[in-house]
Amino acid sequence: MHTELHTWYWKNKRPLPWRNSTPWGVVVSEFMLQQTPVNRVLPVWEVWMKKWPTPKHLAKAKKSDVIKYWGRLGYPRRALRLHETSKIITTKYRGSIPKTLPELRELPGVGEYTAAAIYSFAYGKRALVLDTNIRRVFARAIDGKEYASLTLNNKERTKREKLIPREASLWAAATMELGATICTARSPQCEICPIAQSCVWRFKGYPKSRAPKRKTQAWHGTDRQCRGTILNYLREKDRGTRSQFEKLWSDKKQLEKALKSLETDGLIERRAKSFTLAS
Ligand code: SF4
Repeated sequence: MHTELHTWYWKNKRPLPWRNSTPWGVVVSEFMLQQTPVNRVLPVWEVWMKKWPTPKHLAKAKKSDVIKYWGRLGYPRRALRLHETSKIITTKYRGSIPKTLPELRELPGVGEYTAAAIYSFAYGKRALVLDTNIRRVFARAIDGKEYASLTLNNKERTKREKLIPREASLWAAATMELGATICTARSPQCEICPIAQSCVWRFKGYPKSRAPKRKTQAWHGTDRQCRGTILNYLREKDRGTRSQFEKLWSDKKQLEKALKSLETDGLIERRAKSFTLAS
């Protein structure tokens, strides 16, 4: 399975710019990709890397610019955490991305997956990289199940750890790429899959299983949409009043709640009768 997958990867991998970037480029991409698909991340990542090519550059940036340039990637608290991370890297690590998993895990916004991905993709080190795509590929190809379980547990970690070959970083990238492009959640393309011959789920005749219930990412009419509307306005106009926001969002109660939560999250500031992005 390893050889087939690695050979396929070299021939078919997408030319994603962070794959030929610096460790910092990998860090920025992993923050952005946490909850946003590749096609939306690509243009924003390009702009960020031109504007802030190193952690030192980002560390000096104004918070309002960081929020502004995050654009419409969503979940903008990630931008603040990345900003915070750049400051820690600059002061504590003299501008170099930490090279150990425990140090990476201490950075704001870096959890188990993100630390392993940075360690593996930035430094080519052996790490257990398990994102949604990789977990689905393993669930199907190895366990013969349509879906991975909702949460990752130690049994799964131990099982997947044993699969990691010497070329650990290549293995992580290849399995992730297969899950993102061929073994997709809804329509796996088994006819062109490089590991079809050893896939247990395919061999069993594709037994159906119930998809694990994830929290739905609702948007229209939600607090998230309301927060996004306010932030987008401030990104364009720099300053806004409640009455200006009310023209964009009619539910006053929800608007007030969104303004308060954006303030609490450190994304906006209240100045007399108007609001601005946090400075
Ligand atoms: S054969 Fe089909 S189900 Fe199995 S890993 Fe390949 S794409 Fe996924």
